[in-house]
Amino acid sequence: MTGRPIRVWRLGEPGRRRVVMISTMHGNEPHTRQILTSLRDRRPIRGIDLGVIPTYNPDGLARHSRRHARGVDLNRNYPNDWVDLDGNYESGPRPASEPETGAVMGFLRRIDPARVINFHQPLNGVDTDTKDPRFARRLARALWPPQTRLDCGGLCHGTMTGWFNARFEGSALTVEYAARPARQRMTAEAPRQLLRVLGATRGPG
Ligand SMILES: [Zn+2]
Repeated sequence: MTGRPIRVWRLGEPGRRRVVMISTMHGNEPHTRQILTSLRDRRPIRGIDLGVIPTYNPDGLARHSRRHARGVDLNRNYPNDWVDLDGNYESGPRPASEPETGAVMGFLRRIDPARVINFHQPLNGVDTDTKDPRFARRLARALWPPQTRLDCGGLCHGTMTGWFNARFEGSALTVEYAARPARQRMTAEAPRQLLRVLGATRGPG
């Protein structure tokens, strides 16, 4: 089956600083969705306007695959330094060829967030080689001691964060958890740490 919908949640307070969080752009990286579900289900978030895409690649998730239903790595399909890649990093027939890419590009254009945090697995670190390294270092310190620097080994072509950082005033970065993060970490610790770094709180529920 293909064509599963990509759902969006609007949390927090309208009119506050806009933040977007995204999980499971790769269908074989399911665990960080727990962070986003916890942000939705516990006491209301105050101090930021939070847009969430809990499952970017629902067709890939259904088949436990990094790539989507037609075999494209959605994080190589963006129209930013796109190159024709094959295999595990299949980048599609052309930049932004896939419906998922167009949908998320449209969402990010509408929201125009100050920050985008894109959760992945399993590299266990924060991408500190990014547009706002001070924020990345703060986030890394809050989520892990010590921070890890991630790169794509020369394969950072057509990524969502690269596209966003080149075109928007805000900044996007990648946060990678391990392959099997503890449930308590996903549902309690990570949400609390993220909200603190973003200057947000939980209101009375
Ligand atoms: Zn990934």
